[in-house]
Amino acid sequence: MLKPILLQPLSVDPAAGWFATAAAASLARPSLNGTAVAYASISDSAQRELPLSHLEELAAALARVFRVPCRIGRAPMDVRFARDERRGQFHSTAILDQLERTADTGARVLAVGACDLYVPVLTFVFGEARLDGNCAVVSTARLAEEFYGLPPSPALLRQRLVKEAVHELGHTFGLRHCPDWRCVMTSSHAVERLDVKTAEFCARCQGVVGKGFDW
Ligand SMILES: [Zn+2]
Ligand SMILES: [Zn+2]
Repeated sequence: MLKPILLQPLSVDPAAGWFATAAAASLARPSLNGTAVAYASISDSAQRELPLSHLEELAAALARVFRVPCRIGRAPMDVRFARDERRGQFHSTAILDQLERTADTGARVLAVGACDLYVPVLTFVFGEARLDGNCAVVSTARLAEEFYGLPPSPALLRQRLVKEAVHELGHTFGLRHCPDWRCVMTSSHAVERLDVKTAEFCARCQGVVGKGFDW
């Protein structure tokens, strides 16, 4: 079945004034793939706000890879409920649960945030997805060079975000981790590993994704 992809912005402060400003500014933006694109910030602080261009590029990249329309959700999802005060991080599984309860089942939903994600058994995760499910979540928190004390590299951040997003969405097609180190479905628990793999599926993984879309 041909399901479009919806990028669901996440927020830990949806009442903040700059959301309204960003959303209003987006009304004048050109549309993407024939679908109106609305912008809401996906960050937990104005300083760490992802530029709209990153989101639009991500939407365009996902539309190319999965050959379906991809649009950016208008309203941010408040994820404060998923925050663990002690860890200062956000429980990705709780976010997925909430997405599954509320998300439009007519779309494959990828939540994108800048809040640092975790699952209880790991220090952090770049993202999480439901195998054969409808929803996935990714965070840019640990994809930025600044997180590692290095100078910012917007190009590297964009590449990493696309790879991580394609990877998590791949899981929603039932794909598990791939032994081919170039394949986007290979597991990467560090940015160095993300950087050596490609943003593409290997032939085998591509076949599985293609079946999901009746290519
Ligand atoms: Zn994975
Ligand atoms: Zn593969």
